[in-house]
Amino acid sequence: MELKKAINALKSKGYEVSCFETAEEAKLYIDCKVDGRTVGFGDSVTLGSMKLYDVLSSHNKVIDPIHCVPGMDFWSTAKQCLTTDIFFTSVNALAETGEMVNIDGTGNRVAGSLFGHEKVYFIVGANKVVSTLDDAIWRAQNVAAPRNAARHGFQTPCAIRQDHCYDCKSPDRICCGQMIYYQKMRFIEMEVVLIKETLGF
Ligand code: SF4
Repeated sequence: MELKKAINALKSKGYEVSCFETAEEAKLYIDCKVDGRTVGFGDSVTLGSMKLYDVLSSHNKVIDPIHCVPGMDFWSTAKQCLTTDIFFTSVNALAETGEMVNIDGTGNRVAGSLFGHEKVYFIVGANKVVSTLDDAIWRAQNVAAPRNAARHGFQTPCAIRQDHCYDCKSPDRICCGQMIYYQKMRFIEMEVVLIKETLGF
């Protein structure tokens, strides 16, 4: 896929865009930019693999549902993430035409990415870049969802078979909603940090 095309499309849609060869370089960049702030995380394998929580926690107040606040459960911790200064998440797919797609089961990740913060960072590995919006929707549903469902140990047909979506009615359904980011939301800063590595699902 053409990262340059995606970068230009994202800029035309109002996003700041930065691009790095490695996750390590991206991590150093983020570590310099975000200092002394409250930071919320959306559930993301990409953020976890970069160990962003550990890096930012040394000089920010970071709230991450994966590292629950002592005495609080996932739901309460995730709720606190909705009103931090800064919010970090990833997406399930990015089209070269500039649209991004996220699926969500509990809603905390999508909700936090839309409103309530000064700035949202989307950290995106090159493996998530596809040609069109249709391809991005397909990837979110048939590639990202099965792998994320399996990561959580959910018993959905996609998690068990790891091939495609079965439009299931499982209580574990991981794609209760699907968000298309057509362009940057109004009255909020948004930056897409692209990394030329395979990160997350
Ligand atoms: S609808 Fe069910 S089978 Fe399809 S991606 Fe979502 S959880 Fe998996």
